[in-house]
Amino acid sequence: MVSKKIKSITPSFTINISAKVAKLKSEGKEIIDLSIGEPDFMTPNAGKITAKEAIDHNKTKYDMVPGLIPLRDSIVKKLELENHVKYSTSEIVVSSGAKNAITNALTAILDPYDEVVIPAPYWTSYPEMVKLCYGVPIIVQTDKSNDFKLTVKQLSEAITDRTKIVLINNPSNPTGAVYSKEELEPLIEFCINHNLIILADEIYERICYDHPFVSIPSISERAKEITILVNGFSKSAAMTGWRLGYTASNIEISKAISTLQGHLISHPSTIAQWAGYGALKEGSEDMKHMVSIYKNRRDTILPILNQLENVGYVNPQGAFYLFLDLSAYKKFYNNHDSFSIAFCNQLLDEHQVAVVPGIAFGNDDYIRISYATKIELVIEGLHRIQELLSFIKK
Ligand code: PMP
Repeated sequence: MVSKKIKSITPSFTINISAKVAKLKSEGKEIIDLSIGEPDFMTPNAGKITAKEAIDHNKTKYDMVPGLIPLRDSIVKKLELENHVKYSTSEIVVSSGAKNAITNALTAILDPYDEVVIPAPYWTSYPEMVKLCYGVPIIVQTDKSNDFKLTVKQLSEAITDRTKIVLINNPSNPTGAVYSKEELEPLIEFCINHNLIILADEIYERICYDHPFVSIPSISERAKEITILVNGFSKSAAMTGWRLGYTASNIEISKAISTLQGHLISHPSTIAQWAGYGALKEGSEDMKHMVSIYKNRRDTILPILNQLENVGYVNPQGAFYLFLDLSAYKKFYNNHDSFSIAFCNQLLDEHQVAVVPGIAFGNDDYIRISYATKIELVIEGLHRIQELLSFIKK
């Protein structure tokens, strides 16, 4: 009964794993869940208070399609102050989460069979989103030696006359790698010279540990002109369930996205938008506290990772993930279609630890661990991974 298009889509691995974990927990099993991409913090107080006030004052009617003006004004201020890039209110479109912002952008730009370059490892939803928007995902394998960051050489080899968009996720889910300004500049230059649009998913932008974060559109006026910036409240304000995100782009694109959104969802829930407005009013102070906790966790975990036998990893400089290279153990799983799925299933079934198989991100040699959870659980999870690795080798 369903379309060929939907049949070509793989269900979200991470959502499937969460469902499996929930089922095991409901059966009374104690699971260490390191699969979740969700901050273990709560909505900032100012966000909750503003949302409650909005309900009490009946601010519950339809409003403007691209989002409440006070919220978009605050986003403009945030982008200027924190990210050093100046947009106007009409260049912002608020959406139901960054997911919705990305599919809005893809739908507004792509004609059937247009190509989107996606560097691998990638966030699991990108290729499926591109397919849903009638585009063709072009997966580009990047090098571990460069922390899996895209280079101009790799990009130039991947483009054709159908390529329209290059997707850059910075900081990266799943690797935690962060691009420097020097790494971004030649990529931007290349995109400008080849009429390519950059879809910059900067949703983890505030979670950046070792160097100040550089937002792609802040690099130059021309970079801003060709970039659709995606950001949201799920990670930067720990507001996953409110479903709030946005795009910032040139006016031609923001108008197109707004037209589309007008037919699809009108706008995200007004109450969620007021919560976002409150959270932004509170500023990034709350977030600085969260980032310092994530950073402490990362710094505690790295020495433990170094002790894991024959396990490599990408140097995590942002987001809250670890991407572990288990290729040395692949040979023990020769009779399985996917090494990372078989390994993760065994880890969950026999050691009660949930992590995400690398195949979900386009690299079957790896697994992804999230440390957006209590550090004791992460440490215990890593011990159990070591136990399984030692067992496999025997
Ligand atoms: N982009 C990336 C890279 C993500 O990791 C996620 C969430 N896991 C999203 C976008 C979607 O976020 P949201 O909750 O705002 O839809």
